[in-house]
Amino acid sequence: MIRTGEQYRESIRDGREVWMNGEKIKDVPTHPAFKPLVDIRARIYDMAHDPATSATMTYTDEESGELNAVQQKPPRTRQDWEDKRAATDAVLTDVGGVVTRVGDETIGEVWSLIDGQDVLNQINPAYAENVKRHIDLACFGDPFHVSANTDPKGDRSKRPQDQDPDMLLHAVRETDRGIVVRGAKYETAAAYSNQAFAKPTIANWGDSELSDYALGFMLDMGAPGLKYICRTGFAGSAKPVEDYPVSNRFDEVDTLVVFDDVEIPWENILFYRDTKAATFIRATLHRYSAYAFTQRNLRLADLMIGAALWNVKQTGLEKQQAVQEKLATLACYREGINAHLTAAIAMAEPSPGGLLMPNQSLLYTGRVLACSQLHEMMHIARELCGGQICITPDKASFDDPETGPWLEKFYSVNEHWVAEDRRKLLAYARDLLNSDYAGHRLTFQLFAQSPPFAHLGAVYRNFGWDGPLDLVKDAAGLSDNVLATLGRKAAK
Ligand SMILES: Cc1cc2nc3c(=O)[nH]c(=O)nc-3n(C[C@H](O)[C@H](O)[C@H](O)COP(=O)(O)OP(=O)(O)OC[C@H]3O[C@@H](n4cnc5c(N)ncnc54)[C@H](O)[C@@H]3O)c2cc1C
Repeated sequence: MIRTGEQYRESIRDGREVWMNGEKIKDVPTHPAFKPLVDIRARIYDMAHDPATSATMTYTDEESGELNAVQQKPPRTRQDWEDKRAATDAVLTDVGGVVTRVGDETIGEVWSLIDGQDVLNQINPAYAENVKRHIDLACFGDPFHVSANTDPKGDRSKRPQDQDPDMLLHAVRETDRGIVVRGAKYETAAAYSNQAFAKPTIANWGDSELSDYALGFMLDMGAPGLKYICRTGFAGSAKPVEDYPVSNRFDEVDTLVVFDDVEIPWENILFYRDTKAATFIRATLHRYSAYAFTQRNLRLADLMIGAALWNVKQTGLEKQQAVQEKLATLACYREGINAHLTAAIAMAEPSPGGLLMPNQSLLYTGRVLACSQLHEMMHIARELCGGQICITPDKASFDDPETGPWLEKFYSVNEHWVAEDRRKLLAYARDLLNSDYAGHRLTFQLFAQSPPFAHLGAVYRNFGWDGPLDLVKDAAGLSDNVLATLGRKAAK
């Protein structure tokens, strides 16, 4: 099924308790800090119905004959991946900027559950039906689904049991209806979403097979006992939209979601007290969703290139070789990401659950390339835009009768570049590269899909190390004895 934007807006009016800046929010969809992103999420729903975009955003499910969202479809063919990439591009183009946690980037965790069904079933068959039902609901019920992994964690040199136990989300007791959990999770978009797949953060379980912290469940965001304490929003603040056009339109509000004894019904439990299940889920979590995440870096790269190039064109600097080299460096970054995304689908691999995963080595190395170089690329783009992005007065000064004429004079470059266009471009570039929001976006790409060491860990686990080892074994003339260290025998 496909929902409408209005149905989505109504679905988050469920009495949830949301705070920002010490204010309890009465109506999330209309509050100035949330409205821009709620409107974007609603627009994504409406794009599925809009005759101009519905073909890109929907498909008809062969089994049910129902219309569903392309971005939620469990991927089985390369064409499915091409369609997903096109749908995400259509969304980012339609909304005119980068938004990440709007559903297509988190649903991949549910496809990982499809792959994990057999393993989870072997570990504990009690929850197999729940896993299956929730996969269907998430993929075909069109909820706005987000991700809950990261706890406050507290003092990492201590076991959770040796400090305030709520530093990590844990089960406190069982009831007839389910499990009562306490703790907290950091979640982007939580306050305006419908559900989250909650599971433990990266953890070292040691020898424990059972742990009250090893929990996986589907969380209904309207559940009683949840408290959404949001960080200060960038949108609707004192900074006018004309001066901060990105902050005011694309802020994806991050939230500390407090679980104050929240009862999770048995039918929503996916695994319980099982460290093996928790370890398995963590290891496969991003095998699909890293694609949509990395695609956002590609769009960011295009926006940076556009902002930098318009700036150097405006100031007549683009003919300088040193300037061209910097633009070429940005293009290499952009095309590096593009190449990884394209090749990951061209060389896609079957998954254990019968789906088609992006080539894992190419996907994870692409994510490291995109995220680990972003700060450098932002810096190059910032440099190309020049220092004026941080010293230009605001729109009010351009409009003021006393200061306006001076700014008109100094910001008019030639007959093609009038002061208002220069002001707009510098304001845009500032908000993309230099503002509080720009720093936030950089940190988001650094951490939101786990921290850099985990990105490299995924590369380590998925790169084909045997190729280089075999090459050097032959090139150096090593004996077959060394193969034993790899657990392999010599080919006859
Ligand atoms: C903007 C933003 C949005 C986010 N959105 C979400 C979300 O929607 N859902 C969600 O679940 N989480 C979200 N997160 C949380 C994110 O997953 C965490 O920030 C991330 O997992 C790192 O955890 P931490 O911040 O507690 O850092 P820490 O665990 O304190 O790590 C800090 C640094 O310490 C080092 N370090 C820590 N542990 C190790 C280790 N074992 N090995 C090597 N080095 C280590 C690394 O350098 C690491 O970067 C978001 C984060 C940000 C910044």
